[in-house]
Amino acid sequence: MLSLLLTFFEIRDTMSELLTPTSLDKKEDRVDASIITELPIADYQDRPAEELFERIVAAKKNLGNQVIVLGHNYQRDEVIVHADLRGDSLLLSKLAAERSEFPHVVFCGVHFMAETADILSRSNQTVILPDLNAGCSMADMAAIEQVDECWDSLSRIVSAEDVVTPVVYVNSAADLKAFCGEHGGITCTSSNAKAVMNWAWSRREKILFFPDEHLGRNVANKMGFPKDDMIVWDPFKANGGNTEAAIRKARLILWKGHCSVHQMFQPAHVDYFRKQYPGIQVIVHPECHENVVNKADLVGSTEFIIQTVSKAPAGTSWVVGTELNLVNRLKAEQTDKKVFFLSPMVCRCATMFRIDAPHLCWAMENLVQGQVVNHISVPDDEKVLAKIALERMMALS
Ligand code: SF4
Repeated sequence: MLSLLLTFFEIRDTMSELLTPTSLDKKEDRVDASIITELPIADYQDRPAEELFERIVAAKKNLGNQVIVLGHNYQRDEVIVHADLRGDSLLLSKLAAERSEFPHVVFCGVHFMAETADILSRSNQTVILPDLNAGCSMADMAAIEQVDECWDSLSRIVSAEDVVTPVVYVNSAADLKAFCGEHGGITCTSSNAKAVMNWAWSRREKILFFPDEHLGRNVANKMGFPKDDMIVWDPFKANGGNTEAAIRKARLILWKGHCSVHQMFQPAHVDYFRKQYPGIQVIVHPECHENVVNKADLVGSTEFIIQTVSKAPAGTSWVVGTELNLVNRLKAEQTDKKVFFLSPMVCRCATMFRIDAPHLCWAMENLVQGQVVNHISVPDDEKVLAKIALERMMALS
């Protein structure tokens, strides 16, 4: 596949001349916006991979500095090959905002990532998500109504506004980030969660951490935080399934939510690789269950995993517990090392996987026609509050 793509790179200049549609600027000059109609996605779905590749290349060339394409580390190869910038969600959002010369940002990631990009972007930028079905199962595990209900319960039992700092993982909807901005809270990433939790505890005695139970617990464990001071809040039970006494005593309230990809890794998988490959290094993401994290040699964000394995000495062996596309790419790029995927199951992010070449091509060619499809726009009032929570976090790093 890679060699095929390289061949395409070699011939793309020739082909793009043939396939390049009229530029956005020129089109806008001569077409009445009211009669521009959206190109239908159905026309893209059965097109050959080679054709889609060339058409995306052609559309990008045509659009020039009208568009920047961002690709999350978990994206499939047929998409990431077109990304101008790769990285994790927050890094990409910050970079997009810094590159304000690009009025359109095509975010190849999931919905909450595109929302964050919109929150941080300049007013002249529009953010596009090629497939609106690309959500996140973890983000969906905390709805704003459930968090409001939890806050009401905490307010009744412990006066939440005085004693609880809400901390939301960036893998969450914009309305939850706004909730944190409004209630003295903050966002966190998997790399800065420890600093954020220290900040939160320095202000108020308790933390409500959502939506990922595992990230919160793993970071607290690493900080030596007593397990007796943690409780889990199940949004489907009264008082989160806790007694009022337990809520009064707790200093860390962990929302019962998880990443469906990272929860697939099991301690037995670590045992298997250690037995088969003595000396192998185990590196996992902190969204994994604590039973896996506790058996790993290293734990960190996707960027940490990429940097650590890339910089490791030649001849070393690694087994990696994070999304499969990222691990396969590491394996292909780090040929002087052995890189294994931690699970025997296919752990792809099914929602991220929805962004494919047909959707990317569809979004780009619509843009060439002057049509913005799947525009992600966070309401202004939410944006202001969510930005407060994000900026509190960014001030810590
Ligand atoms: S990998 Fe997990 S947290 Fe990340 S987008 Fe997919 S479901 Fe959400």
